[in-house]
Amino acid sequence: MRVLITGGAGFLGSHLCDALIERGHQVVCLDNFCTGRPDNIAHLMGHERFSFIKYNVCDYLHIDGPLDAIMHFASPASPQDYLEMPIATLKVGALGTHKTLGLAKAKNARFLLASTSEVYGDPLVNPQPESYWGNVNPISPRGVYDEAKRFAEAMTMAYHRYHGLDTRIVRIFNTYGPRMRPNDGRVVSNFIVQALQGKPLTVFGDGTQTRSFCYVDDLVRGILALLMADSDKSIEQRTDRAGFLTTPKESPPESIHDPINLGNPRELTVNGIAELVVQLVGTKTPIDYRPLPADDPRVRRPDIRRAKALLGWEPRVDLEDGLRRTIEYFRKVL
Ligand code: NAD
Ligand code: UDP
Repeated sequence: MRVLITGGAGFLGSHLCDALIERGHQVVCLDNFCTGRPDNIAHLMGHERFSFIKYNVCDYLHIDGPLDAIMHFASPASPQDYLEMPIATLKVGALGTHKTLGLAKAKNARFLLASTSEVYGDPLVNPQPESYWGNVNPISPRGVYDEAKRFAEAMTMAYHRYHGLDTRIVRIFNTYGPRMRPNDGRVVSNFIVQALQGKPLTVFGDGTQTRSFCYVDDLVRGILALLMADSDKSIEQRTDRAGFLTTPKESPPESIHDPINLGNPRELTVNGIAELVVQLVGTKTPIDYRPLPADDPRVRRPDIRRAKALLGWEPRVDLEDGLRRTIEYFRKVL
């Protein structure tokens, strides 16, 4: 396959570039480096099946030659980044998604959108099934990211329904691992860097809010399974908005074109992740409690029944193991 990855120089995008190259595919990576880094793809430069275009995906998009698939991963993803770049975040979710869908239509390519657990906002249902519509404040500072991704999902489904484009949507839950930027502001990278440098760990709020953390290798395996799955794949199983299984006769089966959660269902508090990082790094570091950012979700945990049923996917790397690998990475780069 010849695959275009937007945001390919970012944390997840660069791991996807590697995984596709390893499997013998051709990769066209497009990125404007607004949050990504040349270092993430430096090892691929010069590879005969890899090419790179420095470009803003919101501008008119032209790619020479055929494309079999487009993976739209361009977007600031860390709350610190999207709060600093609110308009660029809205534009890449809206205009960038429109441009990449148009390109997919012109090239008759399969399209995969990187969506997010943030579409559930501050969820009133835990864990979150894909059938849950979410609880998002559109005008809060976080709204720029949540609404951009919700618009991107709506646009993707419209291209699927109206133009018959073969689309897939992955709702990614918090993912961590090597190549996160040391200063990107996300909790795992912040805590590891702080612990390695002997600085206090910055816990926002009282640290009782929860998250569920997926190791990058597990996520990449799930995304590629979704990209490669047959377009007529479906399951009869359905869940209602609270996550209970239902089988109403009038509901169509869940298909590969419906959004799919990928993440690790092990849920822990932010205090819990702080303790684990301190223990694994092996330092004694105090906690520095800071104010909770506006509309920070209280809970987050993926319901991954759909991914299991449709893709046979579930995470394999446990949190301690994934954290050890990530700590090793940060020890080398700091
Ligand atoms: P990242 O910031 O490392 O990567 C995003 C990449 O997109 C960067 O390389 C950046 O330079 C590029 N980019 C942004 N705007 C662009 C534009 N207008 N034109 C071209 N390139 C642009 O973040 P990440 O964690 O790798 O996230 C990748 C995708 O996955 C994002 O769409 C994000 O919303 C989604 N996601 C990630 C997570 C996670 O936990 N990592 C969770 C949910 C969703
Ligand atoms: N958080 C924290 N300290 C930090 C960074 C984040 O306590 O230094 C908290 C943040 O308030 C949130 C959780 O950790 O409750 C996860 O934050 P992150 O920025 O990693 O991603 P989010 O899940 O909010 O998108």
